[in-house]
Amino acid sequence: MHDSTFGLVIHGGAGVIVRPELTPEFEAQYRAKLAETVDTGYAVLEGGGTCLDAVVAAIKVMEDSPLFNSGHGAVMNAEGACELDASIMDGRTLDAGAVAGLQHIRNPIVLARDVLERTPHVMLIGGGAEAFAWQLGYDFVPNQYFQTDHRRRQLAMARELEQRTIGAPRSSHERVTFATVDDNKLGTVGCAALDRQGNLAAGTSTGGMTNKQYGRVGDSPIIGAGTYAKNATCALSATGHGEFFIRSVFGHNVSALMEYKGLPLDQAAAEAVRQMAELGGTGGLVAIDRHGNVATPFNTPGMYRGHRVAGQARVVEIFGPADC
Ligand code: ASP
Repeated sequence: MHDSTFGLVIHGGAGVIVRPELTPEFEAQYRAKLAETVDTGYAVLEGGGTCLDAVVAAIKVMEDSPLFNSGHGAVMNAEGACELDASIMDGRTLDAGAVAGLQHIRNPIVLARDVLERTPHVMLIGGGAEAFAWQLGYDFVPNQYFQTDHRRRQLAMARELEQRTIGAPRSSHERVTFATVDDNKLGTVGCAALDRQGNLAAGTSTGGMTNKQYGRVGDSPIIGAGTYAKNATCALSATGHGEFFIRSVFGHNVSALMEYKGLPLDQAAAEAVRQMAELGGTGGLVAIDRHGNVATPFNTPGMYRGHRVAGQARVVEIFGPADC
């Protein structure tokens, strides 16, 4: 049974997003792109499209924008290349598709959906994932397409910070990574949607973290960590320091808190953020349940986010309560 409401919630990353650091021009650009993203996904749902269609349509808008850490404008790894991860999950069937370490696919979320719909697998990585895309006839773009000067400057800054931790214990690496990440404002993108049929889906797309090494993969393409969807509970996409979201099995934790503990969406989401923060992590999530309730908790100063549920106005927000 479903009550035929529909809607979606999106994010463009969490981090130290505070008024003094965001010029009015950039703030206006972010607000406009977040609004365009919400409207694009909402139009799909309003027209009777599926939640999977809405998730892909919304995420593509942000992947194509240099403002976010996904697709064009993704952060750079230690070798100065962009390596992209994405995932998508169907809450009706619990089918999922994910890709990691892509270097030439313009819209990783589209390939993640093809993994879901056209393979018996859940996750494809690197050259194998790109060979699959080649077989499907994808256009390949040079890695330079993803790279921007802004991300080059961030990489230079991260390398400088890294010099200070050579040989230091793990805890200092984490502190330095935090500093770098916070300066980078993260910027992963994601979407969770409820369609008119009462089905839920979620997706996430990212360049990962600046200066990542050795094929590092974060939570975004990990089903149950950065992305999760189950009709009986909720659909969600997370953003933040991925290692902590993997270690706290973040996405599934929100769903399990609803299913096994009977918590409503907002309390389950807040509790999962609390548990992830207890490990030392920072970030947040966007989530929607089958009734159209939306939750967007985060423990960073800000998170780019927006949502629209049928019968209600579109909402776009950037800052946290301290800075609104
Ligand atoms: N969660 C992403 C990662 O760790 C980063 C982000 O959310 O911005 O790869």
